[in-house]
Amino acid sequence: MANATDRPVGRRKFLSDAVAGAASLVATPHIASAKAEVPAPAQVQDHQAVPSDVALRVKALESILVEKGMIDPATIDAVIETYESKIGPRNGARVIAKAWVDPAYRKRLLADGTAAIAELGYGGSQSEHMVVVENTATVHNLIVCTLCSCYPWPVLGLPPTWYKSAPYRSRAVIDPRGVLREFGVTLSDDVSVRVWDSTAEIRYLVLPERPLGTEKLNEEQLAALVTRNAMVGVAKVSRPRGAAA
Ligand code: FE
Repeated sequence: MANATDRPVGRRKFLSDAVAGAASLVATPHIASAKAEVPAPAQVQDHQAVPSDVALRVKALESILVEKGMIDPATIDAVIETYESKIGPRNGARVIAKAWVDPAYRKRLLADGTAAIAELGYGGSQSEHMVVVENTATVHNLIVCTLCSCYPWPVLGLPPTWYKSAPYRSRAVIDPRGVLREFGVTLSDDVSVRVWDSTAEIRYLVLPERPLGTEKLNEEQLAALVTRNAMVGVAKVSRPRGAAA
């Protein structure tokens, strides 16, 4: 695991990470299809293995502006981190909190994630289809994009660096329980793990279990408990401090 914490790392290794990812793609073509625990492989033809022309141009432009002293890399990283870990995931957290307090909404969310998420103003006419998978006492869902970085950005914002890393993309499929342990989630043997491989067309969002001790919290307070990592499936939602066990 390149970085198994909730804290996004800087973007300075942008190109080296991308190149490493492309190399692993050549070595291990779509590992997901070889693992029985993984649902049927989804469409992969639109995956992007190397940075797009636009990404490379942006990187080149950024490098020149930094070199000329016109922009500060630390400022750019701060903006990116804000969208990665603060603004973006709060949309998803509101979706989760509503599902926890409103059984009818939860039902709609699981039946048609795209439409239910659009009810709250997120996504809407985006081309990707949203599928929400629910964690229970016996099922734990984990989201990955084995070939690149497909991610439910309307509800989670920008993907963290570790999500795009070659180790996460391969090991989430080969050894999901090991990856989860590294993120601090240890599952008992009677909990089955389902790994979902995102694509350009289908993006997944985990509906985590509502923690005990939150019965008196309102929707806004519940949303504050929900983390990005919980919605990717690499964490559970912790009960609030002081809540009864
Ligand atoms: Fe992808």
